Amino acid sequence: RELPHEDYRCGLVALAGRPNVGKSTLLNALIGFRLSIVSPRPQTTRHRILGINTTEAGQILYVDTPGLHRGAKRAMNRSLNRAARSAISDVDVAVQVIEAARWTDEDEAVYAALVEQAVPRLLVINKVDLSKDKGVLLPFVAKLAETHAFDEIHYVSALKRKGLPELERALLARLPVQPPVYGEDEVTDRSERFLAAEMVREQLMLRLDQELPYATTVEIERFEDRPDGVAEIHAVIWVEREGQKAIVIGQGGAQLKAIGSAARRHMEKMFERKVFLKLWVKVREGWVDDEGMLKRLGYTD
Ligand code: GDP
Ligand code: MG
Repeated sequence: RELPHEDYRCGLVALAGRPNVGKSTLLNALIGFRLSIVSPRPQTTRHRILGINTTEAGQILYVDTPGLHRGAKRAMNRSLNRAARSAISDVDVAVQVIEAARWTDEDEAVYAALVEQAVPRLLVINKVDLSKDKGVLLPFVAKLAETHAFDEIHYVSALKRKGLPELERALLARLPVQPPVYGEDEVTDRSERFLAAEMVREQLMLRLDQELPYATTVEIERFEDRPDGVAEIHAVIWVEREGQKAIVIGQGGAQLKAIGSAARRHMEKMFERKVFLKLWVKVREGWVDDEGMLKRLGYTD
């Protein structure tokens, strides 16, 4: 591709941060598209996802990272940590997202991982809509800045879309002058097949209680564009035990039906065509610990 003008910039920006600080919400707000799945639970994001934002000024390639997890005993958590580390290497700018007026040991661990990278580090304080009292927030940030080296600090609300244009300008200014990598209509490097699995998983996260979502995963067995213009998608929801299967299916199949219709609605919006979605629930003991299975499901890069 050619350089559209002499100050056109393009590069990779990592969105790092402990689980639940709002990285995926921020990514979606920045690219103006509901790409990365969001839920009130930690560990919703399991994969490295590239979100692409193209403007007149340039193209920002955002990497939404799964948070770093401690105590990575299970294969799944180890795979998440690998994905998180590889996502923050080889970027042009690293953004650490935190929640307004909160800095925990986990934030500290993310910071320690970022400091190892010789790239500009921006601190983004998210959820400022929850912290109305400037008398608390400003001293908190001042104190943090004394002991942690950030090149810039930004205040945003990903949810209310506050402070985002300023952040975007700051990020672009730190990217190299180079032509775009992706076409201007592209929003992600991920396939529709991958996104379809994520949308089913999002519903599992939103609708199932406690630990159950972490014992499930989704595999797309078939993704076919039919001659009538409908995308036919067959998905398997893998669970670890029979009892979990019953819960996912629900009374008279009600839960599975609700999961399916919500996921289908999101797919139709994202894929801009009609979707026929068929779901199965299958038991596979210990899939969370099974490296081979995780590989097949795309967890390891
Ligand atoms: P991630 O784990 O860092 O990717 O976090 P998510 O994007 O999945 O968000 C975690 C939770 O925080 C969700 O319930 C979001 O709706 C919420 N959230 C994200 N950004 C904001 C914000 O700016 N303000 C408020 N009040 N909530 C937010
Ligand atoms: Mg996320």
